[in-house]
Amino acid sequence: MSRILVTGAAGFLGSHLCDQLLEEGHEVIGMDNRVSGKTENLDDAFERPTFSFYEHDVTEFIHVSGELDAVLHLASLASPIFYREHPIKTLKVGALGTHKTLGLAKEKDATYLFTSTSEVYGDPEVNPQPEDYRGNVDPYGPRSCYDESKRYGESLVRAYRDEHELDVRVARIFNTYGPRMRLDDGRVIPNFMKQALTGKDLTVYGDGKQTRSFCYVSDMMDGLVALLESGTQGPVNIGNPDERTINELAEVVLEVTGSESGITHEELPPQDPQVRRPEISKARSELGWEPDVGLEEGLKKSTEYFESQLHKFSTVLD
Ligand code: NAD
Ligand code: UDP
Repeated sequence: MSRILVTGAAGFLGSHLCDQLLEEGHEVIGMDNRVSGKTENLDDAFERPTFSFYEHDVTEFIHVSGELDAVLHLASLASPIFYREHPIKTLKVGALGTHKTLGLAKEKDATYLFTSTSEVYGDPEVNPQPEDYRGNVDPYGPRSCYDESKRYGESLVRAYRDEHELDVRVARIFNTYGPRMRLDDGRVIPNFMKQALTGKDLTVYGDGKQTRSFCYVSDMMDGLVALLESGTQGPVNIGNPDERTINELAEVVLEVTGSESGITHEELPPQDPQVRRPEISKARSELGWEPDVGLEEGLKKSTEYFESQLHKFSTVLD
């Protein structure tokens, strides 16, 4: 059994990761300042004696007593609507939060895992994106608070590896979805699900020909754990290479939910990436991992959760 700190534990991916690690028999310490996460995501985790939770902003000094075997840094603002609203918090958690968690990992001689993102590739000029593609990011652009904080975070992780021989992992996560995503998160799948389930038109931004590749959350968890357990220190893409246009995604959501909603087009947000698809041969060969939940299946698995959120937060929809 290992003792593992998970930052961003009350969020979508962080809470699933806590559950998975607890299930595997580890002791897990969750940390979150709840800026976008909800502790109810940790209801299952709180049932276990091997779980504890600290409300803490990871941009401030972090004190954890006792030994730690791993520090997994997931805390961030992660949805475009949230990071556009809080660009300074986004930069701080990617820069200061990564620095503090790396310092803690060094102090405890713990393995460190950083959750980076496909956004380090920006609006990519090559498709699919392999790990050695250097990206096309506008440092002064509307998404730069997120993209650049993650690029800086990767650089800081590399520096701790080189200067302090810290044992590091870097996951470049591509669009992931599933239960526990906030309905008001603004990302495309919660938006489309909420719209389809309430009979409202699905809002496709732009002409809908832009692409994304969507990974179901259980596949992502397996990928992150495989990366942690591997000896791979360089960045690894983790995502599902099944690339779809946003128009196709809207059709699939309508089909899976049996909704009769229509589709409307709204303005494309500035600098919205045109294509995105992970090249995952490194994950296949070095982690022995690949996703196996298809888009239709993953959306079906998520429908009940999104429905339950509608009833819970029905006032939000008015
Ligand atoms: P999320 O918003 O659901 O969870 C992030 C959590 O971090 C939230 O609970 C939030 O309260 C917490 N947090 C933010 N700032 C904090 C701070 N200063 N101190 C403590 N806690 C803080 O997002 P998610 O989708 O679960 O993403 C988790 C990680 O994975 C993020 O680092 C994100 O950048 C990365 N990622 C996610 C995706 C995806 O598709 N979900 C894609 C690429 C990368
Ligand atoms: N999008 C859309 N309608 C929505 C929300 C998003 O068409 O209601 C588009 C968005 O412009 C982007 C894609 O869906 O092209 C994925 O957006 P999301 O915010 O989920 O994540 P991103 O990959 O852009 O970070």
